[in-house]
Amino acid sequence: MSMDIKEIAEQYGTPLYVYDFDYIEERYSSLKDAFAGKKSLINYAVKANSNLSVIAHLAKLGAGADCVSIGEVKRALSAGVSKYKIIFSGVGKRDEEIRAALEYDILLINLESEAEMKRVEMVAKALGKEARISIRVNPNIDPQTHPYISTGLHENKFGVEIEMAKRMYIYAKKSEFLNPVGIHFHIGSQLTKLEPIAEACGIVADLVRSLKAIDIDIKFFDVGGGIGVVYDDEQTIAPQAYTDAIFQATKGLDVTILCEPGRYMVANAGVFLTKVLYEKVNEEKRFVIVDGAMNDLIRPSLYNAYHRIEAVAKEADTPENKKTPADVVGPVCESGDFLGKNVPLPPLEHNDLLAVHSAGAYGFTMASNYNTRPKPAEVAIQGDKVKLIRKRETYEDQVRLELECMEESAE
Ligand SMILES: *Cc1c(COP(=O)(O)O)cnc(C)c1O
Repeated sequence: MSMDIKEIAEQYGTPLYVYDFDYIEERYSSLKDAFAGKKSLINYAVKANSNLSVIAHLAKLGAGADCVSIGEVKRALSAGVSKYKIIFSGVGKRDEEIRAALEYDILLINLESEAEMKRVEMVAKALGKEARISIRVNPNIDPQTHPYISTGLHENKFGVEIEMAKRMYIYAKKSEFLNPVGIHFHIGSQLTKLEPIAEACGIVADLVRSLKAIDIDIKFFDVGGGIGVVYDDEQTIAPQAYTDAIFQATKGLDVTILCEPGRYMVANAGVFLTKVLYEKVNEEKRFVIVDGAMNDLIRPSLYNAYHRIEAVAKEADTPENKKTPADVVGPVCESGDFLGKNVPLPPLEHNDLLAVHSAGAYGFTMASNYNTRPKPAEVAIQGDKVKLIRKRETYEDQVRLELECMEESAE
């Protein structure tokens, strides 16, 4: 993708997200192929990168969508994902979100608590509908990832314990307005070890067997997302090893396997491009100040996440280009505003371009307007074509809703 990165930056400006759609297709196929011969559906986790063109690209390949708000459900539908391939997860759903999900008639509403089950039942009853539900089980497994992105321990807010899940299934089975057809777990993100996933699969598959024994027929076995990717030098999970572990755990069960990868599909499809504004050196440190910031890509500030950063078209290892460590920092008024620390970089000048790698997941979707900075534009590369998939925000975009209020109160 180093292909005309400089030209793209010149044409569309910086800061800029660029996504390689061919790579996304390869990732989708690599996982889909590993499910060959089994009933399966890949529900792309929209929150990783919810650009409509990204979702539409995956929908064309056959992907479904895992959504965590009704806004994401709407994105999935407008990007062309079939309603029967959409699931709606998340620990807190408003009544109107539940109502909309039922009216859209999506595949599954994923429940995360008993109280939520009762709300869904009430809303379904009011609409005279039966809600297809799954229950998120918390298998109490340490996924061995960053604590902020670990979700499968009882200390985390997600899902319900096995015994509670059982009681909920029995209740739902009796309810006229609930149809318990799925089971779900998601133990964390950026998982690089297979064992915790295999263990969780085993625990949840045993629960499914005991439910089938009491005539609660679980049809969808949802293993969540979380497959890790390479940011630096991580070991990752091979798709075939992943699916083999799932098949092993679900042996003998007649279920459709759902999985919800987000990061796996898009993280390494994306690069964040930013331009050097100045260098600043003091006695302690070398700073490279760039036009991209934490409001554009918050992962380094939020999780201390590592993103490889390189100077585009400056890699020649000549004595003049000798690399020395620098902190790459943005213009936002926070000490936590950095994209990388101690990054080996050659001497840089105004307008030199830096590529921040692995930025396709949880990059743009976590962007904000902090410091009244416009959100960056997004561009897709597919084959030899480059297209703009989101325009750069303007000042007017940012203040429109406030201006409308001022105009109304002036009337
Ligand atoms: C965030 C999330 C995912 C996707 O996680 P990745 O690490 O991006 O694969 C999948 N399912 C649920 C329920 C999630 O909350």
